[in-house]
Amino acid sequence: MFETIVGQERVKKFFRRVFSEDKLSHSYIFAGKDGIGKSAVAFELAKALNCPNNNCRKCSDCKQVLSLQHQNLHLVFPLPSVEKGEKNPIKSLSESELEQVKNEISQKAKNPYHQISVSKAREILIQSVRNLASELAFSIPEHNYSVVIFFQADKLNQNSANAFLKLLEEPPQKTLFILITESPKTLLPTILSRCQLVRFDLLSEDEIKNYLLEKGFSEEESKKASKLAGGSLQTALEIVNLDLITKFEEALNFLRVVVVCEPTQVLDLAKNLSKREKNELESLFKLTMNWFRDCLLLKAERTDKHLVFETYRENLQKFSQRYHFANENQAIEVLEKGIFSINRNVYVNLLLTDLIVQLNRAILPR
Ligand SMILES: [Zn+2]
Repeated sequence: MFETIVGQERVKKFFRRVFSEDKLSHSYIFAGKDGIGKSAVAFELAKALNCPNNNCRKCSDCKQVLSLQHQNLHLVFPLPSVEKGEKNPIKSLSESELEQVKNEISQKAKNPYHQISVSKAREILIQSVRNLASELAFSIPEHNYSVVIFFQADKLNQNSANAFLKLLEEPPQKTLFILITESPKTLLPTILSRCQLVRFDLLSEDEIKNYLLEKGFSEEESKKASKLAGGSLQTALEIVNLDLITKFEEALNFLRVVVVCEPTQVLDLAKNLSKREKNELESLFKLTMNWFRDCLLLKAERTDKHLVFETYRENLQKFSQRYHFANENQAIEVLEKGIFSINRNVYVNLLLTDLIVQLNRAILPR
């Protein structure tokens, strides 16, 4: 149990004991900063309570819980307010809002550290709680458990909180309520007193760093992001992904100067780049190499392969059409040599100017 959860050793130990002593309470508040693993633990509990094979991760119950599609798993979160008279808040969503909700849930399934956020959603609606109550009344799980997870439980308003309180006062059998929140103090005292509070800890820099390293980020990136993340894995993930976008943009700007190859621009770019750290230049060249590899994959129509510049697919296609005589392999070779020389050369400025001109010739053979 809890193999996939980063850190939170104290919480894991607590729930392992709860399970071994068969002392599961019917309602918990998971308190702590966003992005540290409260939902991840909640999903693990839902899985443990519904898997017939001791939390195997492989059976259909486990898979359905992990994809957040299990019929015994009920997710409640803030939604846009509904028209008067409408009972089901999901039904009153516009097509694009519904699409957004689905997308948010699928993101949450892929990454439990992601925070569900729907535009124009301010509160947990009373209609959502009423819906939940009727769903729970109809579902009588035979050998497993209904697990209800409230995300951003502090967004319960007075009406929805009172409706939920009624549920808590006469909890349905075999139902576990988990209220996830950053600020438990804002919950109604009557709700607080009926739930067991479980505090989650901020993650340590090492825990975050090791996770990022496992995900394939470099030592340097992982170290930097874990220092800036303030104990939140989600913040760390946002930092590395944002960094990635900056790097993509930088590679594209580099290529723009390369294809135009206007002398003053080339000299300026070479001058600016030569001030950078060598490992930064190396990563710029590596990324640019991936651009040309992506071009080759597109040309070969290898749709089965993942493109590094997937989010820039359109730009890639335009580039390939416009420079269809480009010799990508030659460009890759130029960049490989560039990486080799940059670590051995003092005259980086000169080397860069030369590299830009050579790349231009690879893209636009005369
Ligand atoms: Zn299973």
